[in-house]
Amino acid sequence: MPVKEGTHLTMNAKGNFIGGAWVAAAQNEVRAVRNPSNTDEVVGEAAWSSPEDIDAAVRAAQEAFPAWRRLPGPARARVLAKAGDLLASRLGEVAQLLSREQGKPIGEARAEVQRGVDLLHYYAGEGWRSAGEVIPSVAPDTFLFTMREPLGVVAVITPWNFPLAIPLWKAAPALIYGNTVVLKPATASPLTALAVAEVFAEAGLPPGVFNVVTGPGSALGDALVKHPQVKAVTFTGSNAVGTHIAGLAAARGIKYQLEMGGKNAAIVLADADLDQAADIVVSGAMRFAGQKCTATSRAIVAESVIATFTEKVVERVRGLAVRPATDEDAYLGPVVSAAQREQILSYIDVGKGGEGRLAVGGGVPRGEPYDRGYFVEPTVFPDVRPDARIAQEEIFGPVLAVIPAKDAGEAIEIANRVEYGLSASLFTRDLNAAMNYIREIEVGMVRVNAETAGVELQAPFGGYKASSSHSREQGRAAIEFFTQIKTVTMAPAGGKH
Ligand code: NAD
Repeated sequence: MPVKEGTHLTMNAKGNFIGGAWVAAAQNEVRAVRNPSNTDEVVGEAAWSSPEDIDAAVRAAQEAFPAWRRLPGPARARVLAKAGDLLASRLGEVAQLLSREQGKPIGEARAEVQRGVDLLHYYAGEGWRSAGEVIPSVAPDTFLFTMREPLGVVAVITPWNFPLAIPLWKAAPALIYGNTVVLKPATASPLTALAVAEVFAEAGLPPGVFNVVTGPGSALGDALVKHPQVKAVTFTGSNAVGTHIAGLAAARGIKYQLEMGGKNAAIVLADADLDQAADIVVSGAMRFAGQKCTATSRAIVAESVIATFTEKVVERVRGLAVRPATDEDAYLGPVVSAAQREQILSYIDVGKGGEGRLAVGGGVPRGEPYDRGYFVEPTVFPDVRPDARIAQEEIFGPVLAVIPAKDAGEAIEIANRVEYGLSASLFTRDLNAAMNYIREIEVGMVRVNAETAGVELQAPFGGYKASSSHSREQGRAAIEFFTQIKTVTMAPAGGKH
């Protein structure tokens, strides 16, 4: 049967990855994925699926679950390690795809694929490590211990901004602890997720253990979370969708985990190394056009150094290379979509409308090579009030608000005065100021003289307040979400009661 044309058809789409095979969507539809650096370029096509496809994927995952959970951890580990090796051997090619699909500067795209490789190797190691504990029993000759067991089919719903790393930092721990997975990647970045499926297939992952269904977010996401065979959902994305998913999951009584927005602050005290702080704040705010949940979107700066610091930041921002993402020298590329650009520009308008003083940027770069992509100028607003909208709401673009503070105490109070609590930085040489900040700041990831983004994969990742729910991701913390505890008491037969 010929594939039904969605928007544009130039090559054969692979389809969904279900039960170890590439299958066309039930409605036989595909959609083109365009390069946000140059929308004339169709990067590839992906299945435009429906709830029927979700049902097929969940059934395949359920069928694969009993054998996969019974496979010894070290055997599961070998598959993950091999997938890591295969991904490493394809690093350049997958990074190109990621960069073209999604607009991430090529250098950062390579770093993301490397992170995927490291995640696979790290979680392969988990298959060899102990899980569970032995507890002394009050009864004689009795063993009391816990086992960590998988949950079953896990739904993985991911955003477009880390289209390889986020699926893997969820799927790799889910798999190593014996769960099976149905991944629904973001509508804007299905192709990189399909590359992950290819790598798993080539590594010898048994059919049905890892499945990918691409297509429209709300219809597929809802069908997945509501599916009776899905036992848990791990989600990264916006707060609006996350809280909706939490409602569906709670109504079914299944486990859920949410990683959502941020409004991350970098506090710069008077004694900071201002050049170091300016370099790191610009990187945190502007790399990948600010489209990281951990991006720096507020700089809260001691009044005595704010003029010098702002000057250093503005000077650096003026020199940033805005380029198509696959250019080797791109510091920031485009943003992901027209809708995303509209949203960012509407916040810039709010800033220009009196919330701050525009120091640099504030618009769309014109001419070649910008006119065919979704580019936004890196933008800095000094003199922003802490309660201004651009200082409170997640913009998810290359926009930095600089906010004055009298002293360290007021800076921490301002940093905490937002609904989010994902990540924060402090720049200082003062040990006591750093200790006080570590104690008082209300975020899940606390950084000193370091960027708000860039948390390492072997450490727990997640936020306070509206940024996250429940258990942390990555590192050993992942075991809390992807397993359940069985407490075992084993007494000798024939003993006295
Ligand atoms: P989004 O919430 O729009 O989409 C996330 C995923 O949910 C996508 O796969 C989407 O298709 C799907 N979805 C959409 N509607 C759904 C529904 N009704 N039911 C189920 N699934 C549905 O987010 P996005 O625009 O892709 O990503 C940007 C957001 O992600 C930002 O808010 C950012 O802060 C957040 N983010 C957070 C982290 C973190 O770890 N905290 C990391 C990266 C991104």
